[in-house]
Amino acid sequence: MKGLNAGSELSVNYLSKNLAFGKLSKVVSIQEKFSNHYFFDPAIDKETSVPYSDILNALSVMDGWGYLSSSRSVTRYCVECFTMGLSLVGRCPFCGSTRIRRGKVLSHKCGYRGFEELYKQGEKWVCPKCQKQLYMNGADFKDEGMLFKCMTCGNIFDKYATYYQCPNCHAYYEEDQAPSIEFVVYEPTAPLTAKKPLISNSFKINERVAQYLTKQGYETKLYYVQEREDELLYWDLYASRGSAEAESNVIVTVLPLADQLEEESVDELVSKKQKSGHKSMVVISPAQVPQAIATKLSEKNIYVLDSHFETLMDEHVLEGYLAPVLSGSTEVMAETLESGAGDNWNDVVQQIKDLGARLSGKVGEIGVKF
Ligand SMILES: [Zn+2]
Ligand SMILES: [Zn+2]
Ligand SMILES: [Zn+2]
Repeated sequence: MKGLNAGSELSVNYLSKNLAFGKLSKVVSIQEKFSNHYFFDPAIDKETSVPYSDILNALSVMDGWGYLSSSRSVTRYCVECFTMGLSLVGRCPFCGSTRIRRGKVLSHKCGYRGFEELYKQGEKWVCPKCQKQLYMNGADFKDEGMLFKCMTCGNIFDKYATYYQCPNCHAYYEEDQAPSIEFVVYEPTAPLTAKKPLISNSFKINERVAQYLTKQGYETKLYYVQEREDELLYWDLYASRGSAEAESNVIVTVLPLADQLEEESVDELVSKKQKSGHKSMVVISPAQVPQAIATKLSEKNIYVLDSHFETLMDEHVLEGYLAPVLSGSTEVMAETLESGAGDNWNDVVQQIKDLGARLSGKVGEIGVKF
């Protein structure tokens, strides 16, 4: 969906499902910047067996869609002793000394600059260099405000150089070279929370379809990645029945977050179905399907089950909805499709119909048989 690869599609559905059923409340991605190694908390990479990059992609896509919000933070650590949380330390940009102090700096007309307290002599303010008394700010002296002074080399500056120092072993690191760990916390947003009942329904219906098909003698695989012609395709349900030569399949894709099915989604669904090599496909989604789109989909043997319809949980209702899929799936399609080099079943049907029409024009009654 939306140009996602199989692993990312699986991850989007895994995350949506587990967030909707309350099995996940947030996901933290943890990146060790030095080795560029990723971890997740909870360890969803281990549960899904999907590469880190696909999970990260799914998280950022859901973030982009507004269903997750992310907050980022960085913690630096010491590679010498593995202490977490390095202290930011300043040093003199002229000599590198860490002996720097901050204070209000006054500059006198004689050229002397120094901290305010050095001018104080009893009740009077006197320049420590030329010994003249100070009169008026902006006239004979200037208040430069808060600045830093290096106690080693005496230079005054407004910005010190920074580096990170380990509070435990005192190892230090250049500011941009300190080993660090980035945490990104992904949490569900209000739009996702509002969608939870429909997301849950989508997956409940999917599992209900699986139950029904199992009863019909299908072998069902939930949340399954199909490998076909060097391509991976993700299915929320992949059911097959019969022998290898005459196998019938039902493939189901759940689009739990879609609001509306558009032309673009249709193209993606059609292309996914084509790649699968199967004749028909079921889509479970709460998305609104405009009439023109619905027609287009049914012409391509793509059947949409609306997650709003809780009655789909009823076996007889479900049976009615699945009837056209099951009747279609019993036809042996795979071979015809593959030999058709990209043609889909409907094109083949259309060719037969066209041929029938031409023949009926020529020969009369023969066309009636088509
Ligand atoms: Zn002076
Ligand atoms: Zn210095
Ligand atoms: Zn250390």
